Amino acid sequence: MKAAFLTGIRQIEIKDIKKPVPRKGEVLVKMVSVGICGSDVHYYRTGRIGSQVVKYPFIVGHECSGIVEEITDTVTNVSVGNRVAIEPAVSCGVCEFCISGRPNICPKVKFLGTPATSGAPAIEGTLREYITIHAGNALPIPESMSFEEATLTEVMAIALHSVDLAKINPGETVAVFGSGSIGLGILITAKLSGASTIFATDLLQSRLDMAKKLGADCVISPRHKNPLEIIKEMTGGRGVDVTFEAAGEQETINHSLDAVRIGGRVVIVGIPEVDKISYSPEIRRKELVIHHVRRSNKANRDLERVISLMGKGILKVNPLVTHKFPLNKIKDALDMVDGYKDGIIKAMINMQ
Ligand SMILES: [Zn+2]
Ligand SMILES: [Zn+2]
Repeated sequence: MKAAFLTGIRQIEIKDIKKPVPRKGEVLVKMVSVGICGSDVHYYRTGRIGSQVVKYPFIVGHECSGIVEEITDTVTNVSVGNRVAIEPAVSCGVCEFCISGRPNICPKVKFLGTPATSGAPAIEGTLREYITIHAGNALPIPESMSFEEATLTEVMAIALHSVDLAKINPGETVAVFGSGSIGLGILITAKLSGASTIFATDLLQSRLDMAKKLGADCVISPRHKNPLEIIKEMTGGRGVDVTFEAAGEQETINHSLDAVRIGGRVVIVGIPEVDKISYSPEIRRKELVIHHVRRSNKANRDLERVISLMGKGILKVNPLVTHKFPLNKIKDALDMVDGYKDGIIKAMINMQ
C-alpha cells in the first residue's frame, strides 16, 4: 500500500509499505478521505510541536474516514463494509483522568500521526491507504454523510468540546479570534448553542467571507480595524460573554482576554508556535474563567454527537472543504495550507 512519509523539513515522499495487520480488538480500515490539519503542517514545516519532535521517516495525519475492511474476533461495534469516522485518540482507560471522564488529558494518550511524548510512543498517522485502530475508535456514519463530512468530525468534535467548556447560554454574545477550520467550526457550533451575536476575526479576507457565510454577525480584519474597539462599541462597552482564541498567536490571546466582559469566559484553543505566551496581570480584576482545550472529549461522546448533528443536517460543514487533492499531490496540499493560498480552509486528500 502507499503511504506519505515526512522525510525532513518540508520533505515528503510516497513509499510502498506493507499493509498493516489488525491485532486483537482492532479493525483494518481502508482510508477514503484524510484532512490536512494545522498540526500536520506544523510538523511538515518545523518537524515538531513543542516537545513532540518528529523522527523521520514519519507519517502524519489524523482527520480521516474510510471503510472497515477486516475485523478481529472480539469486535462487535462495526462490521466489514461499514463506512466509519475515526476517533484518532486512544487513551489508557485506567489513569485518574480517564476514570474521571477526561480521557483527552490522559498523559498516556496515543494520538494518530503524533511523535512520541514522555507518556506514549510515536503513532504513525493516516496519510496511507490502510490503518489499523482499536475498534471502539471506528464510528459508523449514516448514509446521509459523505466521507469528507466524516473526516471533518474530528475538527468539529474539538469545536464542540470548546463550546462545551464555554457553557454558552442562549442569547449570549461570542467572539472568535481566528477563522481557520477550528475557529469556523466553533462559530457554527456556538450559533447552534444559541449565541445571539457572533464576532469573527481573521487576517485573511477569504476566511472572513466564509465566517460571514457561516453566520457571523460581524467580521473584522485586524489589518484594517481594531477588533476591540468594534466589539466594545457594538456591545455598549460591555464586551462579549465568551471569547474563543483559535489562532495560537499572542495578539489573538490578548484580544480574547480584552474583548471579554468582566466575569466572562475565555477559551484558548489555538496552538502557539512559540515556547511562551503571556498576559497582563490586570485581567485578574475581571475574574475571568480561562479554559484551555486539549482536543475533544470521548467521555462526553463528542464525536458521536457531531455525527448525529451532521447526519441530520443540523450542523452543516461542507463549505469548509475548499480544496481536494489526490495522495500523490500531498506536497502541494501541505504547501498550500502552509501558505494560506487560494482561500484554502480545509484540504482533503482523496486516498483512493
Ligand atoms: Zn487536527
Ligand atoms: Zn489515561
